[in-house]
Order: sequence, then C-alpha cells, then structure tokens
Amino acid sequence: MSRSSVLSDVGGPAIELAEFRRCVRGWLAARYPLCDESRDDDRLDVIARAPDGHRAMIDQAVALQKDLHAAGFAALALPRKYGGAGLTSAHQYVVAEELSRVDAPSLRALGIGLGLAMPTIMGAGTEEQKRRFLPPLVSGHEIWCQLFSEPDAGSDLVSLRTRATHDGNAWIVNGQKVWSSLASDAAYGMLLARTDPEADRPHSGITMFILSMSSRGVSVRPLVDIAGGRHFNEVFLEDVVLHDSDVLGEINRGWHVATGTLSGERSGYLGGSGAGRRRRQAEQALAASSLRSDRVARQRVVDIIARERLLELLVGRIGAGAVAGGNGAAGSLVKVAAGNLEQLVAEVVIDLLGARGLAWDTRERDGNVAAHGLNASRQATIAGGTHQIQSNLIGERVLGLPREAR
Ligand SMILES: Cc1cc2nc3c(=O)[nH]c(=O)nc-3n(C[C@H](O)[C@H](O)[C@H](O)COP(=O)(O)OP(=O)(O)OC[C@H]3O[C@@H](n4cnc5c(N)ncnc54)[C@H](O)[C@@H]3O)c2cc1C
Repeated sequence: MSRSSVLSDVGGPAIELAEFRRCVRGWLAARYPLCDESRDDDRLDVIARAPDGHRAMIDQAVALQKDLHAAGFAALALPRKYGGAGLTSAHQYVVAEELSRVDAPSLRALGIGLGLAMPTIMGAGTEEQKRRFLPPLVSGHEIWCQLFSEPDAGSDLVSLRTRATHDGNAWIVNGQKVWSSLASDAAYGMLLARTDPEADRPHSGITMFILSMSSRGVSVRPLVDIAGGRHFNEVFLEDVVLHDSDVLGEINRGWHVATGTLSGERSGYLGGSGAGRRRRQAEQALAASSLRSDRVARQRVVDIIARERLLELLVGRIGAGAVAGGNGAAGSLVKVAAGNLEQLVAEVVIDLLGARGLAWDTRERDGNVAAHGLNASRQATIAGGTHQIQSNLIGERVLGLPREAR
C-alpha cells in the first residue's frame, strides 16, 4: 500500500481532524482489539519477561511502525519529502490517542529515533542529512540511540570527556558512553564529543556527530536493569573515524544542538501526556481488583485521572508558549510531573492487584505486568535528567530563583 493511500481515500492533506480520527480508528480496529477487550496473554507475557522480551518488543514496534508508515500514519507533521505525512502535530496526537485505545504494541522502542533524532535532524541537519536519515527512521527501518551520558558525566553532562580529534583529514573519536538505550540495536547514534578542549567555556568545545553503530572501533556491551531488561548499554569508542559530513549542526556548537534534543526528550518522548494511557492502566487495574468498590481505591484512581488531565493541559500550555522559560526549560515541568505520575500509577496498580501484584510469576498476566511496571517505573525520575536537576532548572529558569552555586 502506498504511504498516502489510506489518507487519499478520505481527502488527502486537507482532511478534517474528526474524519482523520475515524480513518485511523477504522484502520486500527481492523488490526487490534480495544484495550479492554484484549486478554492476549502471550503478547503481554513477552513484554513482562523483560530479559528475553527486549528483542520481541523491538520487533513488534518496528513492524507496527512499518505498517503505520505504509498507511500514511507515521511522522504526521514531517514534510513528505523526508518520509512524513505533511500534516500537523494535532494529527500526530490523534494517532497517539487512538493507538493508546487499542491493544497494539508499544512504539517506545523507537522513541529515541522518532522523539529525539527526528526533531534534532530536522532542526540542525543539512538537507543531505535530512534526506538520507529521516525516511528510514520514520519508516522503522533504522533504529537510533543517544550517546550523551558518560561514566562521569550524567547530570553534569558538560564535563563529558569523549574526544574527537581532527587529524587534518578526519575526526578520530575515543571515549566511553554509558546508559545508552537501544545502542545494541541501533543503526545510528547522536554522539556528543569534545572537539575543543581549550575552549573558554566547556560548553563551547563540544560537537554532535551522527555515528554509524557499525563503524570500526565501536563496541557495545549490554547492561541489565533492575527489571531484568537489557535495553541500555555501555558503548566503547576506540579510534573511530568520522568526517565533517557526520557533524550534526556546527563544529563546537554541539551543546546548543543537544540542549534542543534534551528539551524535546523531557517534554515529548519521556514526559508527554501519555494520551490517556496511564488513566486506562489505573482504570483497568481497578476493574480487575477486589477493591473496585473501595472508596479509597477509587479515590486514588480518580487522582490519577485528574493528574493526567492536568498534565495534558500543561503540555498544551507549553506548546502554546504560555509558560515562562519557553519550551526548553518548561519541558522540565512536564518531565517532573510525568515522571512522578508514572511512578504513582505503577504503585497504585500494584496495590490494587493485592497479592497478585506481589508475585513475580510469569504465568500470571496482570501481576507480572504490574510487578515489571513497578520496577521499570524507577527510571522515570532518572532518565532524560534526574528530578533533582529538573527542579533546579525549574527554579532558575521558570520561577526565576537565584542560580545554584557552581
Ligand atoms: C532507563 C535509562 C535510560 C537512559 N538512556 C540514556 C540514553 O539513551 N542515552 C544517554 O546518553 N543517557 C541515558 N541515560 C542516562 C541518564 O541521562 C543519566 O542517568 C542521568 O542524566 C543522571 O546521570 P547519572 O546517572 O550520571 O547520575 P549523577 O549525575 O551521578 O547523579 C547522581 C545523583 O546526584 C544528584 N545530583 C547530581 N548533581 C546534582 C545537583 N547539582 N543538584 C542536586 N542533585 C544532584 C542526581 O539528581 C542523582 O540523584 C539513561 C538513564 C536511564 C535510567
């Protein structure tokens, strides 16, 4: 099916949102059951058994993204010449909402590519880079990773020590990255490296590169997380050769590019409103719980519904430029609210399931998913910048409080 075929059946790019929603809903209904109707134990069990489920999660996400792309429902706001649908972010939100209503695989495994690399390349890439990298990213054919954090440079990212030295002909990169999600599966990574160690300010001597993960000198070692997952990695770089054409943005201006990537990560990929996903999770756990008539249990679920709605409104206000600090620092507000909510939902779901939530038994679907979810939710206040650091940013840049002593 051509990428535009489903859309062109109902009126092409000028399509009204309501009509577009009907179109997406119909397409999804032919493929996936509604969340509430689904009891597909096999699929959920795969997600819950993280160690060997990692591969399956990626495969399922890639298959869904390819299907969405073929139907014209991928990268809705991206221009067509780069593989998108040439519509608007409102259309993108409709797809996210409709996806969250059905029991479709999660696209989270592609989040770094779609949520971070895509906007970064659109904002800082050359025309050649956009045409080369965006179409296979959008169609699910190439996975991306983010090579920012290092063993001694996480919150204090600006102290990163990976070096890229120009030998007159090419850049030679040496160093180590850590916590690099999906690096073992990625075709490309956004790499931050120090290119001018003598710069006046440490921020000024950093460059962002596009790194092919199959380059000679790149080795990837998986790390096992608290939930048993193997999605993040250590990445070792030894005399890796890069060229000027691999620079994303300008040489020594990588900090500026990375700031945009990180603010997108905080407000979008990690911190987005979730399109009703968390509310549905809590409602489903309540429906399955022996506590479903309990007033306190119901109150906790209502609290989640209210918080998710507030988060949606916050995302909307930031999008409309109505929050001080612009989209950059205001993204930290979303990150903190969404991270806290993620952990609250995981805790409420476990409590609602009672003894079933305590058992880590792969044969027991709800308890297994909930137990894995509780462990996995710990990352919500660390990944993409810890909540302590986000609170500092909110204090300094949104509330205008005095800066932290440095
Ligand atoms: C699931 C997951 C996925 C990730 N994926 C990626 C990825 O794909 N790519 C990537 O580059 N990185 C990734 N990261 C790394 C993440 O960005 C870092 O873990 C995060 O920025 C914190 O850095 P750190 O772990 O070095 O902790 P540190 O910076 O060492 O912080 C340790 C503690 O000290 C606190 N702290 C530090 N400085 C201050 C301060 N000034 N004021 C108050 N408190 C402070 C922190 O809040 C934290 O509690 C991932 C992390 C997780 C958990």
